[in-house]
Amino acid sequence: MNVGMSLPPPASSSSSPFLMLILSSPSGAGKTTLTRMIQQRFPELRFSVSHTTRAPRSNEVDGVHYHFTDHESFREKVKGGSFLEWAEVHGNYYGTSMTEIIRAEQDPACSGIIFDIDFQGARQIRARIPDVVPIFILPPSMAELERRLRGRGSESEEAIARRFSGAKREIANYALFDYLVVNDQIDRAFETLSSIIVAERSRRSRRAGLAESLLRHDVIVPDGEATA
Ligand code: ADP
Ligand code: 5GP
Repeated sequence: MNVGMSLPPPASSSSSPFLMLILSSPSGAGKTTLTRMIQQRFPELRFSVSHTTRAPRSNEVDGVHYHFTDHESFREKVKGGSFLEWAEVHGNYYGTSMTEIIRAEQDPACSGIIFDIDFQGARQIRARIPDVVPIFILPPSMAELERRLRGRGSESEEAIARRFSGAKREIANYALFDYLVVNDQIDRAFETLSSIIVAERSRRSRRAGLAESLLRHDVIVPDGEATA
């Protein structure tokens, strides 16, 4: 295991109404599918685009799915302290750049960010951003996980075997996550995820400003999705 060592300080205070979600799972459990569904229902949540040294898949676009990069530039970014977290996953390097969060926080149309990262990255972000919401997606069985990995048809046999053999190690780290969502039926898993998002938005730590505004001005000014 290879993880980032010298990381910058937290990007957000624990009382920020800005929602930060981590979505993790063993490869093939359905995280990408669920992330797409979340983006449709909650367009105000932005997807963090990671940097990776992995080669793009045929359907992937640079700057949209990942910032595809070579090993040297990745190392430079690590040395320069550009990453909030980074890790080696399935033989490739992946990292979340600090600018992803800063841009999202500065965008008035954006009320939160979703990180699709592995458990090593989740551990690093948890240590720096205490109010991050870490969610882990479980497959209903290991046999179904293998079927989904193969069914996706985007990797070589060797890459599939490597991802499948790492799955139990990832699942063994479930205690790093506050929520475990079983993706048996996609619609049910999506409804569970949506409920978590709606509930997390209502936490006192993210809503204290609304109560304070009521006390001071006798009215809560509707704030779009933030008050939904
Ligand atoms: P991940 O991003 O976790 O690696 P994907 O979202 O790419 O996983 O899903 C892997 C494959 O499994 C895809 O072909 C996807 O369409 C399929 N899949 C996802 N969720 C389900 C589900 N609940 N039932 C059946 N197939 C699913
Ligand atoms: P994939 O190659 O299938 O896109 O992703 C492989 C794994 O790397 C997934 O578990 C994904 O969540 C994880 N990953 C993607 N981006 C990052 C990142 O920026 N940091 C970390 N730690 N993991 C990432």
